[in-house]
Amino acid sequence: MSQVLSVDGVDAGYGETQVLRDLSLSVEEGEVVSLVGRNGAGKTTTLRTINGILTPTAGTVTYRGEDISAFDPTETAKRGISLVPEERQIFPELSVMENLRLAEFGGTESESAHSVSVQEALDMFENLAERTGNPGSSLSGGEQQMLAIARALVAGADLILLDEPTEGLAPYIVQDVMDIVEEVNERGISVLLVEQNVHVGLELADRNYVIDQGRIVWEGTSEELESNRQILDRHLGVS
Ligand code: ATP
Repeated sequence: MSQVLSVDGVDAGYGETQVLRDLSLSVEEGEVVSLVGRNGAGKTTTLRTINGILTPTAGTVTYRGEDISAFDPTETAKRGISLVPEERQIFPELSVMENLRLAEFGGTESESAHSVSVQEALDMFENLAERTGNPGSSLSGGEQQMLAIARALVAGADLILLDEPTEGLAPYIVQDVMDIVEEVNERGISVLLVEQNVHVGLELADRNYVIDQGRIVWEGTSEELESNRQILDRHLGVS
């Protein structure tokens, strides 16, 4: 298995405020990896540091063997790294089809990218296919999440960074989003998934990292995490 992403000993934060402390994690080819932790633990900050919104003050971020620590979001996107933020970032006034077509233009130049055409994306996301002419703003929360993921695919993502994809969604939609993440992964696209809902991480991920106060405090398979009451209780507040 080759390594897609490696974060090594990273410190990062906002101005004087240090959030991440000596944080290390990795994603191997074709894996779904989850980063779980309480509110404010540093999950979003980790994704922002990987995609280049933030620059680490120590340590390195390596993507397919290349040091991308100093890259900005445009440069990481060209390599095939696609962040789907919690707020989903679709264009509300544009139609579903226009949202997808724009993603095609902003596409990656990466050779490792998986190309998914607009039509293939619509075949994957039936709900969207029925609403191609509707404005993004008319979609439900779950559909907006689907559109954001579809945009990442059409842009040619090779590694998708998903920030709390199930946040605020009704339970029956949570399952739909989880199915889509699995389908995306079956196409060979690696996924780093940030979740406050540990159950989503447990079900989807090959491996999990637990983050607390900007540090990785535990790493293991979903089976190991599920049976580790102490970690669940101490760092995640569930058991
Ligand atoms: P959440 O589920 O709340 O998003 P999280 O684990 O993703 O939790 P982060 O968003 O990474 O946590 O936030 C980690 C810490 O960084 C928090 O203490 C937060 O207040 C702080 N923080 C986040 N964004 C900023 C910012 N733009 N400027 C200053 N501090 C910030």
